[in-house]
Amino acid sequence: MTQAQAQAAALDALTRRVTGPVIRPGADGYEEARRVYNGMIDARPAAVVRCATADDVAAVVRHAADLHLDLAVRGGGHSVPGFGTGDGAIVADLSPMQRVEVDDAARTATAGGGTTWSGFNDAAAAHGMATPGGILGTTGIAGLTLGGGIGYLSRAHGLSCDNLLSARVVTAAGEHLTASEEENPDLFWALRGGGGNFGVVTDFTYRLHPIPENVLVGLMFFELADGPAVFRFFDDMIDDAPREYGGYPAMHLAPPLPFIPEERVGQPFAAVISSWTGDMEEGQRFFDRFRQVARPAAEMVAPMPYPALNTLFDPLLPPGLQHYWKAAFVTRLTDDAIAAHLEHGARMPAITCAVHIYPVNGAVHDVAAGATAFGHRDATYAANIAGMWPDPAENEANIAWVRDYFAAIAPHSEVGGYVNFASGDEQDRTTDNYGANHGRLTEVKRRYDPDNLFHLNQNIQPHPVPLPRDARP
Ligand SMILES: Cc1cc2nc3c(=O)[nH]c(=O)nc-3n(C[C@H](O)[C@H](O)[C@H](O)COP(=O)(O)OP(=O)(O)OC[C@H]3O[C@@H](n4cnc5c(N)ncnc54)[C@H](O)[C@@H]3O)c2cc1C
Repeated sequence: MTQAQAQAAALDALTRRVTGPVIRPGADGYEEARRVYNGMIDARPAAVVRCATADDVAAVVRHAADLHLDLAVRGGGHSVPGFGTGDGAIVADLSPMQRVEVDDAARTATAGGGTTWSGFNDAAAAHGMATPGGILGTTGIAGLTLGGGIGYLSRAHGLSCDNLLSARVVTAAGEHLTASEEENPDLFWALRGGGGNFGVVTDFTYRLHPIPENVLVGLMFFELADGPAVFRFFDDMIDDAPREYGGYPAMHLAPPLPFIPEERVGQPFAAVISSWTGDMEEGQRFFDRFRQVARPAAEMVAPMPYPALNTLFDPLLPPGLQHYWKAAFVTRLTDDAIAAHLEHGARMPAITCAVHIYPVNGAVHDVAAGATAFGHRDATYAANIAGMWPDPAENEANIAWVRDYFAAIAPHSEVGGYVNFASGDEQDRTTDNYGANHGRLTEVKRRYDPDNLFHLNQNIQPHPVPLPRDARP
């Protein structure tokens, strides 16, 4: 039997073992199944297994390990480097696993590993609650939480991973484990920021928080000339800002939204995107502080349910755009850093590009730096230069813009960046991205995944320096 025949026979056996479909090249649905959110990724996996149960996941993990195949694990498929797929890989696609169960009395929610934030938020909001998630509804809870998880509610309630109470995990050995403070605490520590390096999470249980029926949302677009004063004000106030405030400074080309004058669509602006989860009048007064610094050229301030805020920008960023991102942790928005943002933000090449400078202070700083794997908790911001554009013919120009922008802010940033905003060509920065937590991550990796089966991610290597072949045990 040739190797190809043996692999086909093994896939036949896997197909009989799992409840979800196994989609192979040439099969109906393969073209759609091999795609992830980033349209730049054109990988052709050996098979995509739509996992419906934790046992399906375990079967795929064992299959990949036994056949020494690359294993790609897919939650929401939003990974910018396209880690949810791979050429010749077997993909454990958890998208069928989207059940969300809310326990009202315990104020917790348990969600399947393929859930996206829109589904999670709708289920939690039906009980008047929420937990910190990302700013879009289409992003997966899995990759976002495992890398940290930054969003509107982070200043109030911490990162998504800070609200994780327990996880059900399929390990590299194909075992089902619970990870929590009580059970396998070392694994639980690593899952909270260490990404998909340690196993496949089939269920996430989160702490929920009461959320008002409406949050106040503010989109303010300021002239570039007012950018320095507005961003300076933001940096001066954010350390002591009430935790109800969940906004961020941003650079944007004005999108085609109803409140933007038609002739200004596509022009560059210094923006502040704000949310407020407290009393509405107090929120209005807080947002007014920005107007006292400079008059917005365009603005929209309105109350809306939290799930509506979380899906507000989804239509502007459909799947299939080209993506290339870079990430930096930042302590202070100095005048020089602000000047760099305004200079490079003004040259933004596509209307879908964005630069967001997310505060990661407030409740994120309540958690000790070594309490979870998330790196650089002392940073004030996680900055994200998000190149997003529709036309592959524009790849070179957009990637160059992201790299130039990053080079300009790097001298004003810390050495690492948030792993979930990093591109695929930054594996050599993983040590920096975790800072003092990297050593312990390596130890946990060695314990749970010594052969690095889970390597399609911002990879934590089980051995910091690869051993020469003749020195391997
Ligand atoms: C448009 C856009 C907006 C974003 N907004 C935010 C934001 O507001 N805040 C923020 O913090 N981040 C944000 N991100 C970054 C986001 O956190 C990462 O892209 C994250 O990896 C996405 O998770 P996913 O499950 O959708 O991705 P996937 O591509 O499915 O997976 C990402 C990584 O996690 C691993 N993984 C996926 N599922 C599992 C699982 N069940 N068990 C173990 N490992 C798994 C994968 O193998 C891969 O390495 C955004 C990304 C995009 C593209």
